[in-house]
Amino acid sequence: ATERTALFMFFGGTGDLAYRKLYPSLFNLYRKGSLRTHFAVIGTSRQTLDDDKFRAAVKKSLADSGNRADSKEASDFISHFYYQAHDVTDTAHYSVLKDAAEKLDKKYKLQGNRIFYLSMAPQFFGTIAQDLKTQGLMSKNKDAFNRLVIEKPFGRDFDSAKQLNDALSKSFKEEQIFRIDHYLGKEMIQNIEALRFGNTLVESLWNNRYIDNIQVTLSEKLGVEERASYYDNSGALRDMVQNHIMQIVSLLAMEQPVAFTDTDIRAEKVKALRSLRVYNVADAATNFVRGQYGSIDNQPDYRHEDNVPVDSTTETFVAGKLLFDNYRWSGTPFYVRTGKMLADKFTRVDVVFKRPLVDIFAFPQSQNTPLAANVLTIFVEPHAGFSLQLNAKTNDATFSTEPIKLDYLVDAEKSKETPEPYERLLHDVLKGDGTNFSSWPEVSYAWKFVDQIRRVWDLQAPNFPNYTPHSMGPAAAEELIQRDHREWVYRL
Ligand code: NAD
Repeated sequence: ATERTALFMFFGGTGDLAYRKLYPSLFNLYRKGSLRTHFAVIGTSRQTLDDDKFRAAVKKSLADSGNRADSKEASDFISHFYYQAHDVTDTAHYSVLKDAAEKLDKKYKLQGNRIFYLSMAPQFFGTIAQDLKTQGLMSKNKDAFNRLVIEKPFGRDFDSAKQLNDALSKSFKEEQIFRIDHYLGKEMIQNIEALRFGNTLVESLWNNRYIDNIQVTLSEKLGVEERASYYDNSGALRDMVQNHIMQIVSLLAMEQPVAFTDTDIRAEKVKALRSLRVYNVADAATNFVRGQYGSIDNQPDYRHEDNVPVDSTTETFVAGKLLFDNYRWSGTPFYVRTGKMLADKFTRVDVVFKRPLVDIFAFPQSQNTPLAANVLTIFVEPHAGFSLQLNAKTNDATFSTEPIKLDYLVDAEKSKETPEPYERLLHDVLKGDGTNFSSWPEVSYAWKFVDQIRRVWDLQAPNFPNYTPHSMGPAAAEELIQRDHREWVYRL
């Protein structure tokens, strides 16, 4: 790999995400040679720590993620880590960080390249971005880069997202801002583009003439766990649909980009989102349904989880229908669903093709069951792969047909080598490649769509709880799709 040069500054550097994902991902980049001699890391948070204690914590984070943390390679890597206690709300404090950054820049010959990673509560994003600029932390070197990486959530509706974006853009230009959506770092999500634009067989059928509907399912098996206080303020619509699902849907729906570059891909995703129908009140109410999990055996229902109010109306499940008003997709709905405490943990996309216009095997005296639809399934996780369902003759003397499957599954050996989303995304930030991040126009269209649904939901108290744990959600999710004479491909 090409060696990259940068100073990383992690705000929230002692947080869960940093230890669990970010430092192990940086270590993988180090092992693969993208980082070697010319990099340094400053961890900062409110906590008082010295470099040694911080390094010990980083070492533990490597060990916890399955690395040999006592190797020479690991200790060389860790020697690039430094700690600086810092309260992000204290403007005067930034000068300490500035000095530390300049010292390390000289020591490691970093050429002024800086990556500011905000891994903490979003309410601080605006202040930090502002102080980075006003307190002189951004490098002035003309040939150097200053990049800002921010975690989700990006606002809680369009207005707050816009406010946040306005605050960030006082200091950083759009192309310097990398909004993390870790689903975009997943192997099979990136493979959607290869599958579509690398195959005549796929892309020539990828429209409303041949595709009946597309289904996207992001299913979680666990309940709300320890994120309850955050989650209860957010709910599945904001936490999963506005970002991850909208991103996946726009990759599925977009036109072919002029070239495989971040600007071209983003332009097509934005165009797709612009033709997404934003629902009026009546359509929002019929096309989206919500759920909240009940109790089973000795497990509490959502309302009795720790840190959840007993009268919470937060949805832990969403299913909906999305419609694009454009030439490619008019009449072909995208059904999406996501939720907690469902039957299993997986992410998949099912592309359901139209049945042949004439079923010649269904002649009157035949016992044959009607031809099944062709289905192309993209398995995103836990196993990565594709499956294509076709109809074939049964292997016997009669003339019956049955669905068969052509399967491609990435084998276990290979999937061990698949980079973790955060490793890929950090590498993209180092390269300055924004392909797998959400741009502001994408974020804003997604919020405008989601806000309409939220607006309708906020008017009526839902009848919760309404689904059994380990099911695939409430009956309303079945009704939503059955009303259109269709069904979910993945069902129990
Ligand atoms: P966390 O609560 O574990 O860590 C927060 C960090 O911020 C800590 O290091 C804390 O010391 C620091 N901090 C808090 N207030 C501060 C202040 N005033 N000044 C300086 N430092 C301060 O949070 P986390 O789980 O690591 O999440 C970080 C971000 O990543 C959040 O935006 C979250 O939504 C997002 N995220 C987290 C996960 C995850 O798996 N943990 C997944 C996706 C997104």
